[in-house]
Amino acid sequence: MSDLITGLRRLHLPTVNRLYAEYEQMATRESWSYTEYLDRLVAEEIAHRIETRVSRAIRAAHLPFIKTIEEFDFQFQKSVERRMLGAYLGPELVSEGRCLILCGPPGTGKTALSVAIAMKAIQNGFDARFVTATQMITALTEADRRGTASEVLPLYLDPDVLVIDEVGYLSYGPNAANVVFQVVNHRYLAGNRSMIFTTNKEPSDWADVLHDADLSEAILDRVLHKGEIIKLKGQSYRRFSARKQEENML
Ligand code: ADP
Ligand code: MG
Repeated sequence: MSDLITGLRRLHLPTVNRLYAEYEQMATRESWSYTEYLDRLVAEEIAHRIETRVSRAIRAAHLPFIKTIEEFDFQFQKSVERRMLGAYLGPELVSEGRCLILCGPPGTGKTALSVAIAMKAIQNGFDARFVTATQMITALTEADRRGTASEVLPLYLDPDVLVIDEVGYLSYGPNAANVVFQVVNHRYLAGNRSMIFTTNKEPSDWADVLHDADLSEAILDRVLHKGEIIKLKGQSYRRFSARKQEENML
């Protein structure tokens, strides 16, 4: 029997190792066939691997919070229908390199939707990376200055899905358009790789935000080549949920 344990270790089958004895008893009790016994152990190993991969990918994505599309309240946010998001929630987000700009005032659920899209991509077997525009611009500007861009750029180029949150919330430095363009252009040339942006500014105002009309047009051209803008309207969910909490306390 020790040979079996050694073999399972060598094959990296920890779940089979953990469960085989217990399942052997169940098999006897419930008269499973040999195939059924093997089938169940293999299924457990696969399920465990998927779980491990998903939780590792969620950690690597640096999401600001966890929100799934199932948890998103489309009754509250009526300006977007789940149907409109179909192309961003399936594997074609990555295979067809779809891009999306979620645009709207604070609290309308832009970040929550971008997180939900990244979560779905991870569940579909891809990896994702969430970053705020400020973080990315600062990191790349700094890297340019130090000559370490080749180490930092892959952070934003390697993931299957890149979420760039909050374009336009802060005034960026003079290098902003340049570094955003570097990322967008590399991803575009690498085969239209998926990017999700959230912004409180109309994309037509990105020229002001990024201090460069030509580069901002070049950025939007590439993003919108296989992408679209979805506008979110209405009340802030933050205020809505604060009010709901207050009502519950009364
Ligand atoms: P924005 O990025 O547009 O400023 P967020 O996505 O950060 O807004 O939303 C603020 C908070 O409200 C988050 O915790 C988010 O999960 C939640 N939220 C926003 N819209 C919805 C919604 N329609 N259904 C459920 N939760 C929502
Ligand atoms: Mg946000």
